[in-house]
Amino acid sequence: MLADQIAILNEVTLESLNETNETKIVTSFCNAGMKVLGADYGFVWLNTFSSPELHLVYTSEKLPFTPRTPRKEGRNYGAIKNSTPDFITDTNKVPDADYVREYVKSFVIIPLVYKQSAYGSMVFCFTKPESFPKEKRTLSFFIGNSVAQTITITRLISDERTERLLREERRKIRSVADANHELRTPIAIIQGNVDLALRSKSKKITEYIKTLNAVNHEVKHISGLLSDLTLLSPQDEEVQENIPFGPVSLRNIIFDIVERCEVLARKKKILLEIKTIPQITIPGNKQYLEKMVINLVKNSIVYGVEGGKTEIAIKKTKDKISISVSDNGIGISKEDLPHIFERFYRADSSHVPGQEGTGLGLAIVKFAAELHGGTVSVKSTKGKGSTFTISLPTAHEGM
Ligand code: ADP
Repeated sequence: MLADQIAILNEVTLESLNETNETKIVTSFCNAGMKVLGADYGFVWLNTFSSPELHLVYTSEKLPFTPRTPRKEGRNYGAIKNSTPDFITDTNKVPDADYVREYVKSFVIIPLVYKQSAYGSMVFCFTKPESFPKEKRTLSFFIGNSVAQTITITRLISDERTERLLREERRKIRSVADANHELRTPIAIIQGNVDLALRSKSKKITEYIKTLNAVNHEVKHISGLLSDLTLLSPQDEEVQENIPFGPVSLRNIIFDIVERCEVLARKKKILLEIKTIPQITIPGNKQYLEKMVINLVKNSIVYGVEGGKTEIAIKKTKDKISISVSDNGIGISKEDLPHIFERFYRADSSHVPGQEGTGLGLAIVKFAAELHGGTVSVKSTKGKGSTFTISLPTAHEGM
C-alpha cells in the first residue's frame, strides 16, 4: 500500500535528521527506495557545495555495471533541469542506454531537487521490465523530494546563522511526524469498527451501540491527544513570550487539583495526602502550572497500586521552590527512566488496560516547568514507587 511505503520513507527521513554525512543519508534513502520501488539496484550522483559536477557517491551491492559519468546534455542533467523523474520502461528502445541493456530492462532517474536547489540524482534499475504504474511514479517523486529536503537541511546546518532556525524546523518536522504516527492508530481502529458494522449482516441495535462505544472511546483519545499537542506546540521562543503570565497561588492550584483527582483516586482506594503547603504566589501561567501538577498527580494514581498513597508537598528554600509528588506505585525501570519526559514515550510494562495515555503528559510537565525557569526531576524504583520534583527559582516568587 502506498501509505506503508511512504511510512518507510518517512522513517528514513526522521533518522536522517540526526545525520550530517550526505553519503550516509543518500545510502539509507537509496536502500529504502529500492525496497519500496521493488528495484534490483540503485546508485546515486551528487554534486558538492562548490561545484555542480555530479559524482558517483553510492552504488548498491552487486551492481553489475559501472555507471557512466552523466553528460551535460544527458538524461541525469535533463531530469534535474525538469525536476521530473525520467522513467525508462524499455532499455532496448533508448539508444543511450545501450551499455546497460544486457543487465537491466527498465530504470528511473529521480532528480534530487528541492525548491531552487538541485543536488543530483538517484537511479533505480530493474532486471525485469517495469511499466511504472501510478503508485511507483508517485513514490519516485516522493523519494526525490524527501532526499532533497533532507540534504537541504544538512547543507544549511553547516551555516551557523541558520542553526537555531533549523533546530526549530527539525523539531516541527519531528512533531508532525510523531503526531501523524500517534493519530494513525485510533483512526485505524475507528475505520475498522465502522467498516465492520457496515458490512455486518446482523442489524441488531446492540451491535451498533458496541461500535459507537468503540468509536467514542477513540474519539476521546484523539481529542485528548490534540489538546495535549496544542499545549506543547508553542515551543519557539517568540511564541513562548506571548504566553500570558500573572500572579498564581501554588497552594490554590494544589488544593483544587486534589479535589478534582479525588474521584479517580477513590476508585483505586488511593489516599491523596497534602503535606506542607505554604502560601506561595509566583508569576506564572495558570493553565500550564495546573496542567503540570495535575499530570503528575494523575500519573501517581494511574501508575499507583490499589490501596496506595500519593503525597504532595511544596517546600521553599532560599533559592528555590520545590513541588513534589510521590507515590508508592509500580515505579519506573532504569531503562525507561531517561526517556519518560520524551514525547509519546510510554514504558511498555506500565500500560494499564483501559487507561491509554497519550505519552505526552510528562513532556508537558517538563515544558511547563521550563517555561517558568524551572526543571523537573524524578527518582523511582521499580516496584516501589516514584517521586517527581519540580524546582522553580525563588526569583519568580513574591507577587
Ligand atoms: P502517559 O501516562 O500518557 O503514558 P506520560 O508522559 O505522563 O504519558 O508518562 C510517560 C510514561 O512514564 C508512562 O507511560 C509511564 O510508563 C511512566 N510514568 C509516568 N509517571 C509514572 C509514575 N508515577 N509511576 C510509574 N510510571 C510512571
